[in-house]
Amino acid sequence: METIAKQPNVKNYINGEFDSKDQDSMDVISPLDGSIISTVPLSTTQDLDRAVQAAQKAYPSWSALTFKERVQVFFKYRTLLEKNLDDLTHLVRLENGKTYGEAKAEVEKSIELCEFAVSIPQIIVDEVQEVSKGVECRIEHKPLGVVASITPFNFPNMVPHWTLPNALVLGNTMVMKPSELVPLSTVRMAELLKEAGLPNGVFNIVNGGKEVVEAICDHPNIKAVSFVGSTKVAKIVYKRATASLKRCVALGGAKNHLIVLPDANPDMTASNVVASMTGCAGQRCMAASVMVGVDKVQHIIDKMVIEAKSIIPGENLGSVISAEAKERIEGYIAEAEANGAKILIDGRNTSVKGKEGGFYVAPTIIDHVTTDMSVAREEIFGPVISIIRAKDLNEAIEIENGSNYGNSAAVFTQSGGLAKEVMERASAGMIGVNIGVPVPREPFSFGGWNESKFGVGDITGRSSIEFWTQNKKTTIKWNPEAKTNWMS
Ligand code: NAD
Repeated sequence: METIAKQPNVKNYINGEFDSKDQDSMDVISPLDGSIISTVPLSTTQDLDRAVQAAQKAYPSWSALTFKERVQVFFKYRTLLEKNLDDLTHLVRLENGKTYGEAKAEVEKSIELCEFAVSIPQIIVDEVQEVSKGVECRIEHKPLGVVASITPFNFPNMVPHWTLPNALVLGNTMVMKPSELVPLSTVRMAELLKEAGLPNGVFNIVNGGKEVVEAICDHPNIKAVSFVGSTKVAKIVYKRATASLKRCVALGGAKNHLIVLPDANPDMTASNVVASMTGCAGQRCMAASVMVGVDKVQHIIDKMVIEAKSIIPGENLGSVISAEAKERIEGYIAEAEANGAKILIDGRNTSVKGKEGGFYVAPTIIDHVTTDMSVAREEIFGPVISIIRAKDLNEAIEIENGSNYGNSAAVFTQSGGLAKEVMERASAGMIGVNIGVPVPREPFSFGGWNESKFGVGDITGRSSIEFWTQNKKTTIKWNPEAKTNWMS
């Protein structure tokens, strides 16, 4: 029997030390069984200010190092992530509720993100050109200063690694604000970064909720804010951070459409669609949420139902994050049913033996959904898929284009021409062809369109290099014989 072990109470991490200050706090609950496993501080504007001061103090010496010097910490840190893989995996599972396999894959992805970060010195080759005789222009990527990263509950280990390795390797110092629902993984990151030799103050953690996030947006000495979470909060953060003249990229929620054509390979399609909707209990911003079935796809839907029945909560399906999340997801299913949709497999009222206090929803497939229903339009964030029937590909693409979101979209077909049509016309930042979770791997960057992302550029990969740096343009002349030139 798995033990849900109580963990030490979470503290803020400022200037290389865990804070000893007494603070208001809230309980951290393991969604696996509903038990209290820790507490997390609800920090104030003053706590944030102390962290920003520490990051400011660390900035001059950290930013003065070369890229090649800074990546040495991340070579060591990457090894420590690998060494502590099992431990980190258990922690993700404990606080988030996903399966061990999913939690392990998440930490492995963090390792890959570090591999990208340590390759930055090989990628950043700044530009130099002799622009007129004896006069040289150069462009260099310079860090911004103190930056902030605000993260959601669904990937407690990976999403922090979307920002922290790249931002730090590029010479910035950081304040991170993890989700108050899953603050434990970040504590281990701070410990391992210290063990890897990161100087004090370069990475700081301030826990809490709305108050800290608003203080981050307003703080005059924070230069850039990266946010990942729901669209509702992404809009608030983007508006507030840019209103105080910071650069900001804010990733929001999603409603990903998978277009299934009648010629799709039935087995591969059914297993990919079900894996996409149920992986991490549907709590991925890349999860399949709507399947648009074009014309005759009943044989694929039948296979999906069989596949979904093999996914068992507590075995190969984790929990959702909270009692409120379970209630919200079940509410969506009930509403769809009341409005005439057909529930092919119903995941409501699920519990897991020995973990009766946990928050479980089994896979749910809702057929004959119409575009006006809330299950067709809103992010459910649970292991639920809504099937909308379309008469042809054109109608299917119009349905996809009608979503306010635009994180990802996918097409399942064996026709290159039809796939190309979706690749061209889908209104989403990340497109899959016969892939249900089309996450681009490094060095390709991650980011959606429409209300799934606010701000310019993406959060990972090469694109993030531009976000975390500013260009310095220098024009140089040493030889007097170059005399005056055309601009002098
Ligand atoms: P959330 O928006 O509730 O919380 C995200 C962060 O914002 C947390 O740190 C939280 O403390 C803070 N926050 C919450 N309410 C706030 C408020 N009113 N004012 C200021 N700050 C506030 O998101 P979540 O529930 O933790 O995460 C799930 C959401 O994140 C889903 O919508 C999912 O699609 C999205 N997500 C998107 C991506 C992406 O790449 N687009 C990736 C992961 C998750």
